[in-house]
Amino acid sequence: MIEISGVSKWYGAVKVLDDCTTSVAKGEVVVVCGPSGSGKSTLIKCVNALEPFSQGSITVKGTSINDPATDLPKLRAHVGMVFQHFELFPHMSILDNLCLAPVKVLGRSQDAARAKGLALLERVGLAAHAGKFPAQMSGGQQQRVAIARALAMDPVCMLFDEPTSALDPEMIGEVLDVMVELAREGMTMMVVTHEMGFARTVADRVVFMDRGRIVEDGPKESFFAHPATERAQQFLARIL
Ligand code: ADP
Ligand code: MG
Repeated sequence: MIEISGVSKWYGAVKVLDDCTTSVAKGEVVVVCGPSGSGKSTLIKCVNALEPFSQGSITVKGTSINDPATDLPKLRAHVGMVFQHFELFPHMSILDNLCLAPVKVLGRSQDAARAKGLALLERVGLAAHAGKFPAQMSGGQQQRVAIARALAMDPVCMLFDEPTSALDPEMIGEVLDVMVELAREGMTMMVVTHEMGFARTVADRVVFMDRGRIVEDGPKESFFAHPATERAQQFLARIL
């Protein structure tokens, strides 16, 4: 579903991604972790063509991001993205947040978009809040709305960038529960997170980044049982 091949990126003279190669198969859940500043957000944004890169190639479901002929807005419409800071539209109701892109981008009718939006809010346990505004909801609720909003576009895969790291501890579980359910339903997911409980529960593979490089990429069992690099050993020792 996602093929990342030899991707490098510089910010000025600083190489922030260094020859990154990995992939996410259909239905696979890949957790990306690593120290702050190691390039995790940059890598995941490249997959969604939110960041240009200098070298290498990325394809999503066979469509190359590099190809000038590729319709990037169309590609993005099929790649769900969930950020650390929710990024809901503050002036719109929760249901309107879910309906906007399906109507504007996919051309869905208002009625169909609302029906699907309500069903998704039901799924994340927030059907009763459809008429509220984001500011009236907790951080955990807002993040569940953000996930539902991404799902409203029928994405072929979902990208998450530290979806729980801005949340109060007591709200992390409700967001992870939604993500675990999504993973179990077979969604293809690339998840930047330090929630190793989540990784242990649903990840198929763990990618560990350090200074712009992917230094480990393998089944979660081997990553947790015997990380190959000292850098990953130190990282795990600190966060577990
Ligand atoms: P992570 O998500 O792993 O914490 P990032 O992908 O956000 O790491 O950042 C990787 C590196 O790129 C860091 O050294 C960061 O300072 C740098 N960086 C990120 N965004 C920019 C930018 N817009 N301009 C310059 N440097 C940046
Ligand atoms: Mg980041």
